Amino acid sequence: MKKKIVIALGGNALGNNLEEQMGAVKSTARAIVDLIEEGHDVVISHGNGPQVGMINLAMDALTKSNYKYSSIPMSVCVAMSQGYVGYDLQNALREELLNRNIDKSVATIVTQVEVDKDDKAFSNPTKPIGSFMTKDEAESLIAKGENVVEDSGRGYRRVVASPRPKSIIEIDTIRSLVDSGQVVIACGGGGIPVVKEGNHLKGASAVIDKDFASATLAKELDADFLIILTAVEKAAINYGKENEKWLDDVTVEEMTKYVEEGHFAPGSMKPKVEAGIEFASSKEGRYALITLLEKAKDGILGKTGTRIK
Ligand code: ADP
Ligand code: MG
Repeated sequence: MKKKIVIALGGNALGNNLEEQMGAVKSTARAIVDLIEEGHDVVISHGNGPQVGMINLAMDALTKSNYKYSSIPMSVCVAMSQGYVGYDLQNALREELLNRNIDKSVATIVTQVEVDKDDKAFSNPTKPIGSFMTKDEAESLIAKGENVVEDSGRGYRRVVASPRPKSIIEIDTIRSLVDSGQVVIACGGGGIPVVKEGNHLKGASAVIDKDFASATLAKELDADFLIILTAVEKAAINYGKENEKWLDDVTVEEMTKYVEEGHFAPGSMKPKVEAGIEFASSKEGRYALITLLEKAKDGILGKTGTRIK
């Protein structure tokens, strides 16, 4: 049966650098077009860790080497990463669709995601980004009001907040495209974080977790499935231990208990499981699936992956 599916692509689907990304998007496009060929409507979101790191480094180098350029806000770096990843993905998807004689257009939406200016994350920035700095460089940034921390003995790094997404600004545009049968890439890198100031949207110095942004996107589009594609076929309890157990079908209640018991690592599996719980518990009949890219098709059929319902 035809489903509306939001697919969140993890680091594996995109590679770690320019060359890897060009190769990775080809197999990613094949897996996504497999689902389109089955008749499903798909909306794609993706992470941007390596890409935004690279852009941030390049921008830092520019401002350091040329006084004419002032520093580039994080929100702008996220916007650039959406364009860069979106371009490669939409190009690869278009080609794969044409190869299979499927008549569908593909577009990337530069997506802004509203965050709460009072989100507690802003008073406790935790996500290290960009290049390492010396103590002197760190002190001059701190004097400018930036948050900088010492990162595990390797030097100093800027840290930004990772607030929760509230709403997706371009949701009506995304919905119209999906409803007319087009393939949409949206909310890249968790979306460009913005804070509402009347009619103005102000870019925030933050990075939204792509797993949470994808859950918000799936809820706002009234999707049937949220598929989080990552580096493992399933989530596990007692991960890496002797009594490790890979999870298949799990209820929201069971999964919530496993989160509380600390089975999932913060910053990697935990946000995926929490995003899955958030989506699956939001309405009857919604499923979240965590699995590998090449297992997405089997996962929807209930053959593999961790399914939260
Ligand atoms: P992505 O780039 O897809 O967001 P991450 O590397 O952030 O991927 O997260 C996936 C990783 O989470 C897995 O490769 C695995 O090493 C790790 N992980 C941590 N805890 C668990 C767990 N309980 N079950 C499965 N994987 C886990
Ligand atoms: Mg990750």
